[in-house]
Amino acid sequence: MASLKAAIIQVTLFQQNCTLLWDEQTMMGVVIDPGGDVSKIVEAIEQVNLDVEKIVLTHGHIDHAGGAMELKEILKVKVEGPHRADEFLLSGIEAQAQEYGLSGVQNVSPDVWLTDNDTLSMAGTEFTIMHCPGHSPGSLVYYNAAAKFAIVGDVLFQGSVGRTDFPYGDTEALISSIEKHLLTLDDDVSFICGHGPGSTIGQERRSNPFLR
Ligand SMILES: [Zn+2]
Ligand SMILES: [Zn+2]
Repeated sequence: MASLKAAIIQVTLFQQNCTLLWDEQTMMGVVIDPGGDVSKIVEAIEQVNLDVEKIVLTHGHIDHAGGAMELKEILKVKVEGPHRADEFLLSGIEAQAQEYGLSGVQNVSPDVWLTDNDTLSMAGTEFTIMHCPGHSPGSLVYYNAAAKFAIVGDVLFQGSVGRTDFPYGDTEALISSIEKHLLTLDDDVSFICGHGPGSTIGQERRSNPFLR
């Protein structure tokens, strides 16, 4: 089994957790959610001496996907995910950037759309894909049972859940996604989320005020 390592690079003014995930034996890995500050991400890749095999997206928000095309151009790799239901967000990134007064981000057209129950190979490890709509319609969670590890994007946070105050946000769908997919996992499954510190499923099951 691959021995997984992760490093987080905070990017954009939204303090988004761009994640490098790799196998320590082969030093092959992925970049998850390169939302922006691409030079910072490239620097981290060089520091780790990581051989990047693909870019993976959890969902279509600007702070997660805004730098994906620029990084793809530099690394010459594919962009995989999210679910096609986030296509409207990915093709609206440049318009969103104007609203926020941001520059240097690009609309994204992924090479591969992913969906529920697909598997995705990252860092020599097969991850199961869970489609978890609510925060965005195309949000995906990536989970590996043997490593007891998940990448959850903005679906679940330590002590909180993804915001749903967008025109397309759906609180009921979000909570039901979390119940159906994440709360069925073991307590000792740890996760990295899109903002702030990670947590474990057990800790969130016990103490997350949004899940009772
Ligand atoms: Zn988001
Ligand atoms: Zn976010």
